[in-house]
Amino acid sequence: MSKPVFCVGGQMSQKNIENDGGRPRHTAINLLDSIKPDLILYNGKVVTGDNNFSIAEAVAVKGDKIVAVGQNADLKRLEGTKTEMVDLKGKTVIPGFNEGHLHMITVGQGLMKVNLQDPRVRTMSDLVQEVKKRVKITPSGKWVEGWGWDQSKLDENRFPTRWDLDKVSPDHPVYLTRTCFHIAVANSKALEMAGITSDTTQPEGGEIVKDEKGVPTGVLLERPAFGLIEKLIPKPDLRQKKEAVKAACKAFNGAGITSINDGGFEVEDYQVYQEVMNEQRLTVRVYGMVRLELREISDDQAIAYLQYIGPRNGFGNDLLKIGAIKITMDGGVGGRTALMRTPYITGKPNNFGIQSVAQDRLRRIIMLANRMGWQVAIHAAGGKAIDNVLAVFKEADAEKPIKGRRWYLVHAYDPSPENFEDLKRMEVGVATNPSFIHFVGDSFIFNMGKEWASHASPLKDYLRHGIHISGGSDAAVTPYPPILGIYAAVTRKTQLSKDVAGKDQCISVEDALRIFTMGGAWMTFEDKIKGSIEKGKLGDMVVLGEDILSVDPDQIPEIPVLATFLGGKMVYTEKKF
Ligand SMILES: [Zn+2]
Repeated sequence: MSKPVFCVGGQMSQKNIENDGGRPRHTAINLLDSIKPDLILYNGKVVTGDNNFSIAEAVAVKGDKIVAVGQNADLKRLEGTKTEMVDLKGKTVIPGFNEGHLHMITVGQGLMKVNLQDPRVRTMSDLVQEVKKRVKITPSGKWVEGWGWDQSKLDENRFPTRWDLDKVSPDHPVYLTRTCFHIAVANSKALEMAGITSDTTQPEGGEIVKDEKGVPTGVLLERPAFGLIEKLIPKPDLRQKKEAVKAACKAFNGAGITSINDGGFEVEDYQVYQEVMNEQRLTVRVYGMVRLELREISDDQAIAYLQYIGPRNGFGNDLLKIGAIKITMDGGVGGRTALMRTPYITGKPNNFGIQSVAQDRLRRIIMLANRMGWQVAIHAAGGKAIDNVLAVFKEADAEKPIKGRRWYLVHAYDPSPENFEDLKRMEVGVATNPSFIHFVGDSFIFNMGKEWASHASPLKDYLRHGIHISGGSDAAVTPYPPILGIYAAVTRKTQLSKDVAGKDQCISVEDALRIFTMGGAWMTFEDKIKGSIEKGKLGDMVVLGEDILSVDPDQIPEIPVLATFLGGKMVYTEKKF
């Protein structure tokens, strides 16, 4: 069927020619085609994620925005001569995943370091073998870096030590971070280069672990301790960081991720991302939090830094924005550094964890950030850390209300009834990490007991109290695919024991999908432009190989991502489906 063509200005041509001073005429355009969708996905199960969680059959995109959602017959009528028609053949489409909290460059770099999170690393000797393989191909004296080890996944169930590593690396400094990034182990060569000996005094807020004779074992707790090593490792340059971002984009798109809330940008990282964006290679929307590492800088430096950054969170475009101020208050549960209300039941007695930033310093910086109008997000894992952070938030709120400013906590495993009230009243959100329940839940049980673990990250309670929550992996801490986080939120099964950690905190697939889409969008003030498949929103969508709403929850991790669309453009496809 031929399409009608409308010529713009047909009636006026004579007059125009008289008035245009001989300039060339604007050529006629096909008006209908210019308003027709560029892309129509039809014949699918479109899980819109709108308020009613309605299901559609088709969706149309024009430019980077969704222009129509509905039934096949209605949308097919919108087809123009240039519209790309994609037959979904009954497949399920969901909104693009909006990752609530992860570390993109770390993930990208991790793709290049020794990966000790690999499930094939089951014993200490496996771990050492992985290091040995890398040592062999690394010039003598150069650093060998690895990440992702977790003692609870090793048969020996103990931390690696310098002596384990020395066997295969007499000439190379070796530095391996634990999966939580709150603990690291270094070999003797690295300790020697850092000047860490039996006589080294303990840094404030961290610990150089020593054996009964007072000799450092190589294990370093928290940044003030492992920072002594990290400062010696050459920082990745701009080019290497750009490569890491590109590698991560590819990996994230393959997992259906179209947006992330990045847990910590150095100021130069904005340039890294901007360059990747300008090269048209930034295929994930990034909200980059401003890392304010109070453990490494003085208050005056922090204040100067805050005052130096002109624009606030929200500055940027749909692809790249400046995020919230990010401060780390405590550590993690697996390494017993999260700040708890009751002591850990394993390890040394009376250990409540570590408060990385003194209360008065936190207060000083947050009060200032509030006055300056910043959005604030704080890593607060343990219950005592939540209490201490919310105490400061309340003080700030009394001076200048924070409601509507979408401040949030990261992790917040153990909220008290009073915490729920404060979160609700000040409209403070929580960036939850459902995947932790699966991947590190066994260490929760081991270190804090089964009862504590059954309420850790109480997703159901958060939703019941009307708290805004997002879902994220904190990757590279746990693997980034959101499908794994959804599985964990729905089943709460731990990886090793397969125990269900707190059945009454399991949430529905619908709710889990929401926190991994709309939840993340809320935290970046973008819930009006993304997070669901609705007219007027960005065309960020994922085609899944199975219907996530009806599949057996145990099968969710196996659901393949078939294609990912960012602003209506396909940025990933497994194969033509
Ligand atoms: Zn993080």
